[in-house]
Amino acid sequence: MDEPLVERMRPFGETIFAEMTRLAVETDSVNLGQGFPDTDGPRSLIDAAAHHIRDGVNQYPPGLGRPELRRAVAADRSRRFGLDHDPDTEVYITVGATAGIAAGVLGLVEPGDEVVLFEPMYDSYAAVIAMAGGVRRPVTLRPGPDGRFTFDPDELRAAVGPRTRMIIVNTPHNPTGTVFTRAELGVIADVCAEHDVIVLTDEVYEHLTFDGAEHVPPATLPGMRERTLSISSVGKTFSVTAWKTGWVMGPAALVRAVRTVNQFLTFTANGALQLAIADAITAEADWVRAQRDALQAKRDRLAAGLRSAGFDVQRSQGTYFVMADIRPLGFDDGIELARALPRTAGVAAVPAQVLYDDQDAGRHLVRFAFCKQDKVLDEAVDRLTRAFAP
Ligand SMILES: *Cc1c(COP(=O)(O)O)cnc(C)c1O
Repeated sequence: MDEPLVERMRPFGETIFAEMTRLAVETDSVNLGQGFPDTDGPRSLIDAAAHHIRDGVNQYPPGLGRPELRRAVAADRSRRFGLDHDPDTEVYITVGATAGIAAGVLGLVEPGDEVVLFEPMYDSYAAVIAMAGGVRRPVTLRPGPDGRFTFDPDELRAAVGPRTRMIIVNTPHNPTGTVFTRAELGVIADVCAEHDVIVLTDEVYEHLTFDGAEHVPPATLPGMRERTLSISSVGKTFSVTAWKTGWVMGPAALVRAVRTVNQFLTFTANGALQLAIADAITAEADWVRAQRDALQAKRDRLAAGLRSAGFDVQRSQGTYFVMADIRPLGFDDGIELARALPRTAGVAAVPAQVLYDDQDAGRHLVRFAFCKQDKVLDEAVDRLTRAFAP
């Protein structure tokens, strides 16, 4: 048979992530490629989920999501950021942020519409833009003298025009770790107002910022609430990435667009987990802060180790990731190096190039995850140091 996959999805067939995972397993490598923690979330959260399942919360929850979770999400957003949402019309529970992002793009982007986003870009964005028949217009984030990635406002202004329907803003940003400042978001807000563009945010790392960097939801900027669909989820916040429970928040019309599509994609998300999360959002706030502090220390630990192994490590202010420049080690192709590393060093990482349209911008960068136990990070550093010892 000829390739049965629809043409618009063919560029998304075999991902480097699958290849890297396979290689890591074959070579018994320390896997710092995949962005999930190797320790569990808070005990009370996990016990509550088990309890609700045993207690019979096992049928379809309401289409919008459990009211307990919608109310908890709205109250949390109001308390932390002063953003008020009606839990009955402006908050909607999805199967992870991934489903919210997909339904948001499918429900709001017409074929031929342009979607501006920042590269390196989280891999699901390009795929769902393609599903919608949209056209992606990446703006490249580049490291400044301090190693922090940011964008050139003129490049953003040049990318946005009459065909632009949406801008996707991921802050804190995977994979660079950049937490967008109020000033940077102000540039985005001005461009959106000028061209009447919808903003879709991905804030799944909203709690995981370091060195006191403040997470600013784009919807809090003047004039932005009415054009912004804000998306977050529980996986990264509570170290339960398998739970796939997220939410979209925004003006009722935008949320309705997401819901109209999503009722035919996943319909609802797991009700028992929703009940457990509703309580944990307030009850486990201290756990989340402790986790954030632990991750900051892990970032420092891995960054120092990578530096001593010879990498040039960029500045990460949040998320699970650091970007490392491989050129000081004498390499210039991250895909080649990432393919070789499991065999030569026994460590797996992700070549950042696959997250860029501009291949040259990402060629020399490799992403490492630090959301792992200290002994795992230390083992990875030992192996890399030995592999690159002069
Ligand atoms: C992990 C991740 C997601 C996926 O979130 P889920 O809630 O698991 O669907 C979305 N966006 C970014 C940037 C991520 O890193």
